[in-house]
Amino acid sequence: MKLSTRLDRRLDRRAKHAPISFLRPFATLMLIFVSAHAFSHGNAAPTTKSDRSIDFPDVEGYQTLVVDLHTHSVFSDGHVWPKIRVEEALRDGLDGLAITEHLEYQPHRADIIHPDRNRAFEDASASAKDSDILIIPGAEITRDAPAGHMNAVFINDANKLLNDDNAPEDQADVLAYYAATKEWPAQSAVDAAHAQGAFVFWNHPYWSRQQPDGLARMNDFHRKNAKAGKLHGIEIANGQNYSEEAHAIALKHDLAFIGVSDVHDLIDWDHPPAEGEHRPVNLVFSRDRSLEGIKEALFAKRTVVWFRNLLIGREDSLMPLLAASISVGSATYREGTQVLEVDIQNHSDATLKLQNRRRLLSWTQPMSSACLHTA
Ligand code: ZN
Repeated sequence: MKLSTRLDRRLDRRAKHAPISFLRPFATLMLIFVSAHAFSHGNAAPTTKSDRSIDFPDVEGYQTLVVDLHTHSVFSDGHVWPKIRVEEALRDGLDGLAITEHLEYQPHRADIIHPDRNRAFEDASASAKDSDILIIPGAEITRDAPAGHMNAVFINDANKLLNDDNAPEDQADVLAYYAATKEWPAQSAVDAAHAQGAFVFWNHPYWSRQQPDGLARMNDFHRKNAKAGKLHGIEIANGQNYSEEAHAIALKHDLAFIGVSDVHDLIDWDHPPAEGEHRPVNLVFSRDRSLEGIKEALFAKRTVVWFRNLLIGREDSLMPLLAASISVGSATYREGTQVLEVDIQNHSDATLKLQNRRRLLSWTQPMSSACLHTA
């Protein structure tokens, strides 16, 4: 944070002295860098959006929906009831939420009777019935490497993704239960999800408990499923982490970019809104505000990940979002000068840095307008 603030100040000084001849949004091939400066230490400009709701404008032809496709509750290894997950999601202004319990790892099973793996979805749906948030049915298939962890969302019945026929009688022996249930081949669980038309993605492929050097690598299991159309996405961002290697795998194997909170405790503990932080989410460009619309958009890979004030996506998803986020109110020359005053408005939550011919010009605060002088 300190480094970034220093950098911003330096760039700010440069911007003030740099003569500019035209403006254009700065985009790298795949990343749009945005500044955390405006959100830090309470020194944001007065125009900065102050509420915690995650808002991005709709893009041409699509609604921009904000979804978190990976969360947990007490029905696996989370520590809150599904209702709290819904309440948090409403505070964050999410349009869609999936509670994706580990099917095989059930640390609370001695205390919470859980024969039906659809309970988290049902409880969340009941909690959400008076709001317009869309609850997405999902579950987490949990194995050791190479399959690792995979989320299946838009399923019909989570129970069919689990086989606990050989599970021990002892309810309290969590590890024995996991050891028995993970023996059912991961491929059988993926096939069961596929049979339900699920959207399946590979979770945190760089997780150091399964990948000791922390670097995501494609393996035969996932390569085969991606090729067969049974693996559709990959987490490039999860909680506090972003993986360049997972990003590269998504591009190489034509998988959707997925970014999730994977929250287990309280979302405000992981991403304190008072400190300007936000949970990682997917922006999904959907034909309408419906479960079916989100599902279709995911399969079509119309997603952008919003992670630590960074927008990550394919160019064909990012550029329409940028186009919708920025508008030019006016552009007029000061009388008798060659100095052009440009009023730029930012309709998004992102602090967008704008660059002119490789020199940084300025940035625009979320939901604000900025007046830039160019010559
Ligand atoms: Zn998880």
